[in-house]
Amino acid sequence: RAEVQYYFGAGPAQLPKPVILQLSKDIVNYENQGIGIGEISHRSKTAQSIIDNTRENILKLLTNNGKYELDQLRRDYEVFFLQGGGTTGFSSIPLNLNSLKGKGGYLISGSWSLKSFQEAKRLGSDVVTLYNDKTENNAFKGCYKGDYSKLLEQEDDLKYVYICENETVNGIEYDATIKDLAKACRDKNVELIADLSSDVFSREIDIYDYGVIMAGAQKNIGIAGLTLYIAKKNLLDQIKANGVDSNLPIAFDWNLQNDNNSCYNTIPMVPLHTLNLVFQRLLANGGIKEQETINIEKADKLYSVLDKYSTESTEVEEKQRIVKFTVDKQFRSKMNVVFNLITLELENQFAKEAEANGFLAVKGHRSVGGIRVSLYNAVKLEAVEDLIKFFENFVNKL
Ligand code: PMP
Repeated sequence: RAEVQYYFGAGPAQLPKPVILQLSKDIVNYENQGIGIGEISHRSKTAQSIIDNTRENILKLLTNNGKYELDQLRRDYEVFFLQGGGTTGFSSIPLNLNSLKGKGGYLISGSWSLKSFQEAKRLGSDVVTLYNDKTENNAFKGCYKGDYSKLLEQEDDLKYVYICENETVNGIEYDATIKDLAKACRDKNVELIADLSSDVFSREIDIYDYGVIMAGAQKNIGIAGLTLYIAKKNLLDQIKANGVDSNLPIAFDWNLQNDNNSCYNTIPMVPLHTLNLVFQRLLANGGIKEQETINIEKADKLYSVLDKYSTESTEVEEKQRIVKFTVDKQFRSKMNVVFNLITLELENQFAKEAEANGFLAVKGHRSVGGIRVSLYNAVKLEAVEDLIKFFENFVNKL
């Protein structure tokens, strides 16, 4: 295929080149079977073993290089896949959790957690907002900063707390205080439910902090078409024991899908196999921690040059102070670097010149404008370094 130099799109996003090359072969002819991976039955032995292997590889990644035993994770967590993306997760979460008594408490730190809350409400689930960062001009600045145990005291019958760990549109990501939230949830016996669509496997997490993780595949881990769920087994057991809401669409039924190896209906095998190729590669490269180290370096380098040219900077001449941030430094996303330039004209000029120089897809989300540079796992450090050089040249011409 034509060589795309550098792609910084927010999703669907670039995948590692070896993954795409392998996938393209497997779409034509999987393991010399004379048929492609998207053409075989999802119930065939071949497909079933790919699904099993993908599940195992996910659990291996979650052992955090030996902190947890694989057997322990197999016992305590279930991994399953549903057709769809993040938005189907917004519906499946409240509907499956309707089986439990109590309220869902949403922490709104950007447009995806807001959309998720609105969907839960629209479906008639018993949900409340515990925190909403949205300001008058529709901008978001960050996550909750106070004492999480106090925040959770606002409601005495919470069954779950919902967060979006990385707000793709707004460039907001939970920092280390997420551990405090997880602890506050544990202390109150409330499940933490998290949308990890845009940061899953970009950094190490402790799976025991979560009741359910949901992630659309098309950013860090694969291509669009399915949603990954990792759910605490005893939570699934409780839902099963209580019986599901009669409004739950059958294809969204977590237990039904999990009990059928994610094949109650037809699982899309091309996206599923892509996930597995990505996970195999991550494992071969040393696991999530290695990837996280690279991701931190990429983000640090980019933010530090943007700070140098920010309107707050004293390091450069006034005419070069062109970068504006809305997001609180503490919650800057390592996956989606979102900022404005001082005028719309300059933003358009930057996006246009970037594109012409092979730095593709740097425009902000249509709802917020500005610039957004997405640094998912497959974006290499050298791409960020070259973008930085380009940015400095751009500023030096002003
Ligand atoms: N959650 C997050 C964090 C997202 O970034 C997105 C999509 N960009 C979604 C949910 C919605 O995903 P989908 O388009 O797959 O429904």
